[in-house]
Amino acid sequence: MGTVGRFAPSPSGRIHLGNILCCMLAWLSARQKDGRVILRIEDLDTARCPRRYADQMEEDLRWLGLDWDEGPTAGGPDGPYYQSQRTALYQAALEKLEAQGLVYPCFCTRAELHAASAPHREDGQVVYAGTCRRLTPEETAAKMERRNPALRLAVPDETWSFVDGHMGPYSENLARDCGDFLLRRSDGMFAYQLAVVVDDAAMGVTEVVRGADLLDSTPRQLYLYRLLGLEPPAFFHFPLLLAPDGRRLSKRDADAGLDTLRGRMTATEVLGKLAYLGGFNPSAEPRTAEALLADFGWDKVPGKDIRIPKGLF
Ligand code: GLU
Repeated sequence: MGTVGRFAPSPSGRIHLGNILCCMLAWLSARQKDGRVILRIEDLDTARCPRRYADQMEEDLRWLGLDWDEGPTAGGPDGPYYQSQRTALYQAALEKLEAQGLVYPCFCTRAELHAASAPHREDGQVVYAGTCRRLTPEETAAKMERRNPALRLAVPDETWSFVDGHMGPYSENLARDCGDFLLRRSDGMFAYQLAVVVDDAAMGVTEVVRGADLLDSTPRQLYLYRLLGLEPPAFFHFPLLLAPDGRRLSKRDADAGLDTLRGRMTATEVLGKLAYLGGFNPSAEPRTAEALLADFGWDKVPGKDIRIPKGLF
């Protein structure tokens, strides 16, 4: 079977250097193996991801010279390519999980979830304490009258391990390290974890390339692959890009956004500098994506967060 990679950006703003590095690595990793690339717009949160941002994103990726075979404008056999148009697939997957008796309604408010007494992980994320898993049917029925519930997946006390294509072995105990996680929010929006698994499987994706901030989502996703009877892809997580002052880049970092960069430099300058930070361009000289195919290798990419030197961009 041939390699299928994907770009899966969330268009909640203009893409920044971290997103570009992600798309570039996904593109290089797939194209080096003569693979195909799919563009999928992760706009589950339609309020935060208006269509004009998605359109701008496609335009920015084209400007960068990163091409793809299937996507919103290109079309293809695996569409639609907007997650906001794929809810029937997420609903079908949810029903499969419900049939296994693993889904339960959760009525906890944001304040309850984030209470100081809630178990927290090292990175500050809350591990759901399982409060609503213990409700009796009568209690659930009473709460249903007052509030639309979110839906959670009950996870077992099991350790899930996998070997990341770049970061190496990783494992996590589902109950202790992540807890029962959301499949659908109380407003009806499907959760990222469910949507990404359903879509990658439906689109035949064989390798997922994304930032290390999603490494700890992978055991949850592997668990979903198992429950849904789907074949998981290979995963490659790469280190995060940090602003020169050491903060994580965000869509609010004007300097790192393509809107200012496009006015100041060419696409090959952006790619060349990012490839230099990624370890596969010997200097920060301009390079096209095509030209970088000869130099790219996962073994060259650093394992730790990369701080962007001041003045590079
Ligand atoms: N849409 C996610 C993001 O932009 C990426 C999800 C993934 O690659 O699994 O962070």
